[in-house]
Amino acid sequence: MWLTRFAPAPTGYLHLGHVANALNVWNEARAHGGRVLLRIEDHDRERCRPDYETALLDDLDWLGLVPDLYPTSAFRNASGRVPCESRQSDRGAIYATMTERLRAQGLLYACRCSRRTLQHGGVRGDSPASGLVKGGGGTEVSYPGTCRDLGLPFGGDVGWRVRLPTIPVTFDDRWCGRQRQVPAEQCGDLLIRDRRGNWTYQFVATVDDYIQGVTDVIRGADLLPSTGRQILLGGLLGRLAPATFAHHALIMKSPTRKLSKSDRDTGVRDLRALGWTSEQVLAAAGSTSRA
Ligand code: GLU
Repeated sequence: MWLTRFAPAPTGYLHLGHVANALNVWNEARAHGGRVLLRIEDHDRERCRPDYETALLDDLDWLGLVPDLYPTSAFRNASGRVPCESRQSDRGAIYATMTERLRAQGLLYACRCSRRTLQHGGVRGDSPASGLVKGGGGTEVSYPGTCRDLGLPFGGDVGWRVRLPTIPVTFDDRWCGRQRQVPAEQCGDLLIRDRRGNWTYQFVATVDDYIQGVTDVIRGADLLPSTGRQILLGGLLGRLAPATFAHHALIMKSPTRKLSKSDRDTGVRDLRALGWTSEQVLAAAGSTSRA
């Protein structure tokens, strides 16, 4: 069954870029007779906030974007937030099980490198100490393998990394065409848990897309460089056939700057406060979405 997902991180308010992604997700699901699953990507305990989650659920309801699996009511009831198996902070047991799969294959090792020691300036990581820019791009620093063969103990202040084989990953992006990536060269051994105990985006997104049975991933082109490593990691975890990927252009603030959650002029909250209707917000986002 064709299944895609909308997977926002509650690190800020939804903006037009998220809405454009959501439109692509919902439109593609409808076009393929498929379904949309909502997943709350709150793996980063330092940056995510429950009030942002509430706001994004409210905004989805207001926009009339209704997930087929895990609708907004699966995450809350009249008295507030409820546990939900599609919220990453409620999926710790699954991540622990999947970590054991990697450990059993001898692929996991402890790493004491801090983000600062890995960083050569200006890299935005998944979370502190990740040393990796989430979507890759021009500034990504490849982990040099400093701790790979040290056999450090897993206790205490260490991150957890996965040894990646140096092999190319090729895939056909539905919208960007054939891609070839060598994750071991782009990012080096992948951090799956940082020194503060946060699971990283690359790990949880890969686990969740696999375990939740997502067949099609539709997301912004800033994540295209992450796709090879997610396909590779999915295979190491036991996924037999990778998902199909489609990456769409981003709404940009300027030719070189992406929208951010702090751009108040494009926040759904702010547009609502200015009196925009949900139709106007959807139309503004839709004018730039692909479908
Ligand atoms: N949670 C990610 C974000 O909000 C999306 C990740 C994905 O689509 O793979 O940027």
